[in-house]
Amino acid sequence: DYLIQYGYLQPPLEETDGQFGEAEMAEALRSFQEASELPVTGWLDRETKTRMAQPRCGLQDPFNQKILKYLLLGRWRKRNLTFRILNLTPDLPPQMVRDALHAAFDYWTAVTPLSFREVHAGHADIRFFFHRRRVAGCSHAFDGPGKVLAHADIPEAGSVHFDEDEMWTEGTSRGINLRIIAAHELGHALGLGHSRFPKALMAPVYLGYRPDFRLHPDDVAGIQALYGKKSRRKEEEEIQELDLETIEPPSPKVPSPVPDPCKGELDAILFGPHLKTYAFKGDYVWTVTDSGRGPLRRVSTLWPGLSGSLDAAVYSPRTGRIYFFKGDQVWVYIGFKLEAGFPRRLVHVGPNLDAALYWPLNQKIFLFKGSGYWQWDELAWNDFSRYPKPMRGLFTGAPAGLSAAVSWKNGGIYFFKGSSYWRLNRQLRAEKGYPRDTAHHWMHCPPRATGIALPNGTDTSSG
Ligand SMILES: [Zn+2]
Ligand SMILES: [Zn+2]
Repeated sequence: DYLIQYGYLQPPLEETDGQFGEAEMAEALRSFQEASELPVTGWLDRETKTRMAQPRCGLQDPFNQKILKYLLLGRWRKRNLTFRILNLTPDLPPQMVRDALHAAFDYWTAVTPLSFREVHAGHADIRFFFHRRRVAGCSHAFDGPGKVLAHADIPEAGSVHFDEDEMWTEGTSRGINLRIIAAHELGHALGLGHSRFPKALMAPVYLGYRPDFRLHPDDVAGIQALYGKKSRRKEEEEIQELDLETIEPPSPKVPSPVPDPCKGELDAILFGPHLKTYAFKGDYVWTVTDSGRGPLRRVSTLWPGLSGSLDAAVYSPRTGRIYFFKGDQVWVYIGFKLEAGFPRRLVHVGPNLDAALYWPLNQKIFLFKGSGYWQWDELAWNDFSRYPKPMRGLFTGAPAGLSAAVSWKNGGIYFFKGSSYWRLNRQLRAEKGYPRDTAHHWMHCPPRATGIALPNGTDTSSG
């Protein structure tokens, strides 16, 4: 029950006998033990039982792929938020409750550009509420003293609830420290999931009162991945770098030839953060807009540590991560900053992928190779044993052996192969009138002399 409740075991959607296999159970126990820094035995041993009995947060631990540290679940689109304390706990004097909740905000405002203002009536973005068991207005019941201490909604919902059956305290190791739990639940309310670092504030299990409590570097990295640093100068520099950085640093390795955006096929295409579209070919990348294309730059000048000749690239608005694939490796960037620990080896999906895209309708990432695809949920355990599946089972009228793919700002999915591209609708069916010429329609190159007619009948023989 514990493994299901906190997301380590997922009841299968198709089979309904409700029984988990021994191997499945052992795997779930191993991932729980790994995440809890317990000896990884795969058995329900005494240490594991003890850890499961400890008080903790009510949210799941959808630890992803064993590669991630902090986990991002959402984001507020504004930086200045309001909050309201709907009721107080009788466990502490009213002013101490308020001070503890205000102090919880201070941990996050110290490291981000976020600001919080208390309101005493009407709507507030974040709402604190103490309740017992099941109450109207909350879909999650509490469980009496111990075990689950609190729960919260991810952005942009804003509920932060505390279990009134706990003894809320401040300044003592008796009971449960309201300030630390409030800071943890605010982490969720701001968009963070659970951390795999057991000493992080965002770890799922409550570690008890610590007089010298501080955020863990993983907590800071997580919240800054969502909202940037306290001083926003650095973040703005990173964004502007795109438009200013034209000088390439000297490179010891022999550069690949500068590609011609009007010829041949793309390695990858990325619809990235800030609604920018990047095209990749060889060691070079350039931006594509509705009116033209930017200058060619070395890939490594924008994304330090990333080599060229990529297989695939995809940006996930769900987690804010950019994934680059090449050979049997994956690189993860937030913006233009490489995440610690990357590149890593691809384990569950094939090497030498053809293309990757994010599908907003189900918030999954699709990876393509040959005539097959994998569907990947970044925030859940994935059963990759059923993949790769044949593309033709899901995509109609689309080619196999893609060179690049992207789901773009207009909602369309685009497949690239050779010098052509296809547009797919929401039913994943290739639309009429495709394939078209990538160089002309995406790269703003002059139309080719091969007789592709323009809608207005412009002469196509020039250029
Ligand atoms: Zn939590
Ligand atoms: Zn609640």
